[in-house]
Amino acid sequence: MPGSQNFGIMEIIIMAFRLYRDMPEDKKCQVRDCKEDNHKTVPADLASKVFSFDSKLTKVHLCKEHYKKYKKETKKEREAQRADWV
Ligand SMILES: [Zn+2]
Repeated sequence: MPGSQNFGIMEIIIMAFRLYRDMPEDKKCQVRDCKEDNHKTVPADLASKVFSFDSKLTKVHLCKEHYKKYKKETKKEREAQRADWV
């Protein structure tokens, strides 16, 4: 039946469209249980001293609030890194 076949194709197109739409185009904060939008992307090795992440990453996205906390908590580490250059 050509009618039902057409319906099948339409369904596939709708499914593909939904998949495309649901792609994480805008990045989210990657701190566990946080659903906020990405504010800054930071090195994961430093960020993982402050937060825990679901998987091994090299870079992580943080929202505004978590970035504030990250900056505060890693101040010493980041200053120590800077001191190494002197
Ligand atoms: Zn967050």
